[in-house]
Amino acid sequence: MILIDLGLGPGGMLLDNLAADGVTPADVDLVVLTHLHRDHVGWAGAFPRARYLVDRREWEHWCAHPGGVGPDPDRVLPAIARRLGHLDQLPPGIQAVPTPGHTPGHTCLLVTDPDVEERVLVLGDLLHTRAQFAEPHWRFRSDVDPEQARRHRTDVLDRFRDGRTVLAGGHFTGTAFGELPQQRQHPQTSHPD
Ligand SMILES: [Zn+2]
Repeated sequence: MILIDLGLGPGGMLLDNLAADGVTPADVDLVVLTHLHRDHVGWAGAFPRARYLVDRREWEHWCAHPGGVGPDPDRVLPAIARRLGHLDQLPPGIQAVPTPGHTPGHTCLLVTDPDVEERVLVLGDLLHTRAQFAEPHWRFRSDVDPEQARRHRTDVLDRFRDGRTVLAGGHFTGTAFGELPQQRQHPQTSHPD
């Protein structure tokens, strides 16, 4: 079994939710990470058989700048380092969509099944709220390069507004899954032209 992103870690519900679906930590072979902010990697180490795939720049950035909003340098970084791989080792059916800006190696992940028309784009933190469908210039306070993040957000929203891509946003309220409005929404403006 493959997991994408891991939440805040102990105290959260991930292992309980997996158990409710009959999944034990030993069933997880592979963890793919959109980026290494601490609220996406907290359960690293909880899966005894898993390898961790991370963008190379992302990994090097947090090794050089440990702490802060990054992975816990005592508990999480070493757990990933022991079983580290990079995104050139993604299995069939998962494709990296590089979207740096929120962090240096932030990557969205496109999940496809050859027998299914629909596909899922796991957004990571490219968007934090559905309001950014209409307001892609809204930035998140921890973006390391807000302009680069905005550019990738706009590009991804245009590229995947195709009627067959479900977007998965871990920070969306309510359900994580949603489809893009078919028509590009333009922000209201008070200027006549
Ligand atoms: Zn983040």
